[in-house]
Amino acid sequence: MERTLIRELNTCVGTQVLIRGWVSVRRDQGKMVFCDVRDRSGMVQGIVLPISPAIEIAKEVTVESAVEVVGTINKRPEKNITADKQNGDIELSVESLTILNKAQTLPFDLDADLNLDTLLDNRPLMLHTERERDIFALQATVMQAYRNALIKREFTEFQAPALVGGDAEGGAAAFKVSYYNEMTAFLATSPQFYKELMVNAFERAFTIAKIFRGEKHATPRHLSELTQMDFEMGFIRDYHDVTRVLEEVVREVVVTAGEKHGGIFARFDTTLPLAPDPFPMLTLTEAQAIIRAEFKREIEDTSDMSPEDERQICEWARREKQSDFIFITGYPTKKRAFYTYEEPGKAPFSTGFDLLFRGLEINSGSQRMHDYDEMVARMQERDLDHEKFSFYLQGHKYGFPPHGGCSTGLERFTMKMLDLKNIREATAFPRDMNRIDMRLSS
Ligand code: ATP
Ligand code: MG
Repeated sequence: MERTLIRELNTCVGTQVLIRGWVSVRRDQGKMVFCDVRDRSGMVQGIVLPISPAIEIAKEVTVESAVEVVGTINKRPEKNITADKQNGDIELSVESLTILNKAQTLPFDLDADLNLDTLLDNRPLMLHTERERDIFALQATVMQAYRNALIKREFTEFQAPALVGGDAEGGAAAFKVSYYNEMTAFLATSPQFYKELMVNAFERAFTIAKIFRGEKHATPRHLSELTQMDFEMGFIRDYHDVTRVLEEVVREVVVTAGEKHGGIFARFDTTLPLAPDPFPMLTLTEAQAIIRAEFKREIEDTSDMSPEDERQICEWARREKQSDFIFITGYPTKKRAFYTYEEPGKAPFSTGFDLLFRGLEINSGSQRMHDYDEMVARMQERDLDHEKFSFYLQGHKYGFPPHGGCSTGLERFTMKMLDLKNIREATAFPRDMNRIDMRLSS
């Protein structure tokens, strides 16, 4: 018999079907056994009657076992209908039950409220839960919608390398890799140089890249291995061409998430993010003036946003601008990556911007330097040996147009979409100072 997906079962009343999935619930009721089964498409209530040939196996099967079930789909008696649930008006009368893999006794109830370390220690098991499925299904949609939005705007996807000869951000601590002949290579801290170089091929390029950062951060928003969704575009007039594409893309991601995963947001006790057109945009100076006035707090560092500044300006944007997103511009050039273009006539301010989402930076971008001599002079200013960047500088030597782009952290974006407290919850297999799958020390 062919397998039927559980979401199709409501069209199968009165017929015999074969399904495969996991046992979600198993409960004895008198001599009967209730056995709910779930597959990738949904859940159905199974009933094993005392006269069913499957009754002995049903008594033995454990929760989260993988099973194959044959049975007949029946309408539920009126009093047992749960109208708002998938398959709430049908049940599967089980005739045969095959255990494909019997699950061992679970170490705890999967509904239990676990602390983060216990959750992560048990991630492979926890992937059985709706909560984990929700998070990573939404994350898949974020990536897909981001990709579709850029392809629609004539961006070409490319693969950035993960092994590099030097550190692109020139500051972010890169992990060393022992390479051939006792050479040292590094894990990429950003696809920056490569996406810029791709501008000379396609004008508009993007990548969804794995990158690695070795800063000794132990915060709820930093990982050692993360995913950056990066795009870069040529022939821009100024950085606003970049922020415009970014906010259109983000709005499309939010709308798609709402369409595909309407129910998720309530399950996480949050709402679909507010993403008005346009997103509010403030300079750093304006933002900090608002924070001072509204939150009666002195600002310690006026050259950058602190985590508390990010939280408070987002609180303000939600209250006053009905937006969960806000751009901050007007950062001093010296605070930004070395390839950041200075805003013409506005020195010492740069074209760099950050996009904040529900209290956290999720994206940074800017117009980049395109002129060879200016780029070399900037490198000298920053004590960077431009000879070491000769590969990258071929872009500047051979016709880089004015260009700019930005980088969105996938895990931070997912985290904030669902209002999760820690980025590790939004990372299927997080790596940090203390963990690669299991804890690195007790
Ligand atoms: P922060 O100052 O918050 O540490 P950053 O400014 O160093 O971040 P960028 O170099 O601007 O980060 O990287 C672009 C985006 O990549 C960030 O906005 C963020 O979403 C994500 N990102 C960067 N570093 C990390 C990290 N260690 N863990 C998780 N996400 C990160
Ligand atoms: Mg940044």
